Amino acid sequence: MRLDQLFAAKARTLSFEFFPPKNERSWLTLEDTIDQLAPLGPDFVSVTYGAGGGTRAKTREIVEHIQAKTGIAAMAHLTCVNATKADLQALLNEYATAGIGNLLALRGDPPKGETRFTPTDGGCAYALDLINLIRADGRFAITCAAFPEKHPDAVSREADWANLEHKLKAGASAAITQCFFTVEPYIELIAHLTTRLGYAPRIIPGILPITNFKSLERFCATCGATIPQTLRAQLAPLADDAVAVRRAGIAYTVQFCKALLAAGAPGLHLYALNRSTAVAEVVTALRLSGHLD
Ligand SMILES: Cc1cc2nc3c(=O)[nH]c(=O)nc-3n(C[C@H](O)[C@H](O)[C@H](O)COP(=O)(O)OP(=O)(O)OC[C@H]3O[C@@H](n4cnc5c(N)ncnc54)[C@H](O)[C@@H]3O)c2cc1C
Repeated sequence: MRLDQLFAAKARTLSFEFFPPKNERSWLTLEDTIDQLAPLGPDFVSVTYGAGGGTRAKTREIVEHIQAKTGIAAMAHLTCVNATKADLQALLNEYATAGIGNLLALRGDPPKGETRFTPTDGGCAYALDLINLIRADGRFAITCAAFPEKHPDAVSREADWANLEHKLKAGASAAITQCFFTVEPYIELIAHLTTRLGYAPRIIPGILPITNFKSLERFCATCGATIPQTLRAQLAPLADDAVAVRRAGIAYTVQFCKALLAAGAPGLHLYALNRSTAVAEVVTALRLSGHLD
């Protein structure tokens, strides 16, 4: 199903994000994860797109595989990294031929070892250019990225949110956020965009289930998300007890999701990191407490 149609029909969605496995063993782990998570009834899933050539083909393969095996709507992430507009158009043709109708249009992160994003000659400099290209193609539902706390490269939150406004106006029917851990920046972003656009745009919070403090720090360092003091204060005294950290982390995640849904979030997009247990715990807790259908 095309996600623009799904979003028009359903006020709230539940979705999960996977990444392309690097080897046969992690492929089997992903297969298991999909088997475990499919019964939770996600409205859609998405598959990331790496900087390297190998994982790029895998994104398409996994999206096709999930659609064929589970019937769940799947969205392929697509970035501007190392691609001319002709390369991107060729990929769009491949995706359309493969029956993929949903794309998350991104600028992309710099390839490993590089600190700055450098546009490819003849390529797209920003996600907005990619959205325009996909929109002109006309065969795909488009989603884009949002940053409640601001994208790390942006000169200001206002400038970054203006960029999001342009991406939505250019044809993205929704945005999924980078992970964040307090509800206030999300509420501020929605209020800002609602004033600017005259309607409340569909901005789906991206949720990282917290299971381990070191990986949380690593993830946040990579994407520029802030770990709030309240969360640090809850997890720090438990540092030597991995089970207690996990329990407190999942409890924090569930409370955070409840607060977002209470604030009107149009669903949740959980970063599964190709594992099922934490995602299943969060979704089950939200369903048992009546916060998620
Ligand atoms: C839900 C989600 C999924 C993701 N999946 C992937 C993935 O699969 N693969 C991957 O490589 N990365 C992925 N990313 C990371 C993403 O590629 C990076 O965060 C990237 O640095 C920014 O992408 P963007 O699409 O937001 O870029 P853009 O919207 O282009 O913004 C990038 C920066 O440029 C600024 N900007 C935009 N236009 C202008 C302008 N005209 N002048 C000056 N500054 C401008 C913006 O404010 C921002 O700071 C994902 C991020 C999210 C939130």
